[in-house]
Amino acid sequence: MAPMSATVDLPLLELASDSGETFPVDNPATGETIAEVPRMGAAETRRAIARAEEALPKWRAMLAKDRARILRRWADLMMENEEGLARLLTTEQGKPLAESHTEIAYAASFYEWFGEEGKRVYGDTIPTYAADRRIVVTKDPVGVTVGITPWNFPAAMPTRKSAPALAAGCTMVLKPAEQTPLSALAIAQLGLEAGLPEGVFQIVTGAAEDAPLIGGEMTSNHTVRKLGFTGSTEIGKLLMAQCAKQVKKVSLELGGNAPFIVFDDADLEEAVTGALICKFRNSGQTCISANRILVQDGIYDAFVSRLVDEVSKLKVGNGLEPETKVGPLIEQSAVDKVQRHVGDAIERGGELLLGGEGIGGLFWQPTIVTNVSADAAMSCEETFGPVAGIARFKTEEQAVHAANNTPYGLATYYYTRDMARIWRLSEALEFGIHGINTGLISSEVVPFGGVKESGIGREGSKYGIEEWLEIKYLCMGGV
Ligand code: ADP
Repeated sequence: MAPMSATVDLPLLELASDSGETFPVDNPATGETIAEVPRMGAAETRRAIARAEEALPKWRAMLAKDRARILRRWADLMMENEEGLARLLTTEQGKPLAESHTEIAYAASFYEWFGEEGKRVYGDTIPTYAADRRIVVTKDPVGVTVGITPWNFPAAMPTRKSAPALAAGCTMVLKPAEQTPLSALAIAQLGLEAGLPEGVFQIVTGAAEDAPLIGGEMTSNHTVRKLGFTGSTEIGKLLMAQCAKQVKKVSLELGGNAPFIVFDDADLEEAVTGALICKFRNSGQTCISANRILVQDGIYDAFVSRLVDEVSKLKVGNGLEPETKVGPLIEQSAVDKVQRHVGDAIERGGELLLGGEGIGGLFWQPTIVTNVSADAAMSCEETFGPVAGIARFKTEEQAVHAANNTPYGLATYYYTRDMARIWRLSEALEFGIHGINTGLISSEVVPFGGVKESGIGREGSKYGIEEWLEIKYLCMGGV
C-alpha cells in the first residue's frame, strides 16, 4: 500500500451504492476531502446480510484451524502494510502517526489472538441427573452478525468486533463511522487477500444521515442474530431497544467517565506520565481517557505543577509531522463541546492554568483546569478532548464516592503504593477496567468492557469469544 498523500484511492472492494451517490471523507488536520465513499442504505444492507447468510454454512463448518490460518494471514498482511495503513488512519482520523502505528499493531493482534482462541471453544460434559441419560454442552457460532463502530479507533474497532465473531464461525456485516470508513475498507480488502471467502466479512458505508437506515435494517432483519456496537451511550441505548424487538444478542461498548485518582503515596512521576498518556493520547478522544483527575491534598500542588510542565511541552499539529503529540479533533462539534466544557468549568469556579482555546481549524491547545467542581459538565460527561480537569480530595472514602458518582463504569485509574488500599479500591470502584499505577491498559489478551451505562459484554481475551457463541445443551436418553 503506497503512502497516502492528499487524496486516497478507495480499496478495490466491490462496493456499490444503489443511488450512485457518495459522501466525502475529510482529513481533520487540513479540511481537505481525501475520498468519496458510497452512500448506502437499507437495501444495500439487506443484500449484504443475505450474502452473509449464504456464506455462513461453509464458514461455520470450516475447521477452526483453517479459519485461524486465514485470520493469521490477515494479521500478517496488516503488519506488512503497517506504514500505509497507519498513514491512512492518521489522514482520516488525525491522530499522530506513532499512535496510528500502535493502533494498527493492536488491530492486527485481534485476528492473531482470536484465530487461536477459536481452536479452544471447548464444550462440557456434566455428571448426569438420571442413569439412562448423558449430558453434553456444545458451543455454536451465533450466526449472521452485524457491527457498528466509531471514528476514534478506525482500525481497532472493526477488528475487535470481527475477529472474535469470525473466529467463532459467525459472518459479519460492519458499518464503520462516516468520519473514518477508509481504514475498515482497507482492512476488509486485506481480509479478501488473506483468503477470506466472499460474504464472510462485508462493509456497508454511509453518511451520517444513512446511519439510522443502515442500523434500522441491521436491527430489524430476522437473519441477524447479534449486534456488536461501540459508540455513544445514547445510540447504544437506541440500538439495544431496536434489538429488543427480536431479542437479538447485543454487545455494547459505550461511553465512559474515567476517574484518575492520585493518592498522597503515589509515585509522582509515574502518576504524571500515566495522566499524560491516558488524558492526551488521541487528543483525549477515547472512551477510556481520564476524564476526572482527582488528586489528594498532600500531593496536589506537586502533581499539578509537574503536569503543567509536561503538558506545556506537547506539540500540537498534523499527525503526519513527526514531532506532533496532539492532533486535531475529529470535527467542529467536538471543538464546540470542548469549548463548552472549559467555559462551564471556569464559570463554576475552575482555574485555567494552561491552554483553554482553539488554535485554528480543529486544533485545540492542550488545557489544564484545576478546582473543577463535581457538577461541572466536564465532571459529568466525557469531554473527548485534550483537556485535563483536576479536583482535590482529602480521604479515600471521598475519592471512592466521587469516582463512583456517575452512571458510567468503563475505566478507572489509581496511583498508590499501598497494597491494602489497592485491594480496597479494586473492590469498591464500579468500573470494568482498572489501571493501577498505569495509564495504559489495552491489549488483545484482556477483557475490555464496562459496567452500568458503559455497556454489556467484553471484547478481547478468552472471554471475548463467548460473546459470539451460543451454548447448546444436549440431553441423550436411552443410554
Ligand atoms: P460518536 O458520538 O462517537 O460519533 P455515535 O454513537 O454517534 O458516537 O456513533 C457511533 C457509530 O454509530 C457510528 O458508526 C455512527 O454512524 C453510528 N450511528 C449513529 N447513529 C446511528 C443510528 N441511529 N443507527 C445506527 N447507527 C448509528
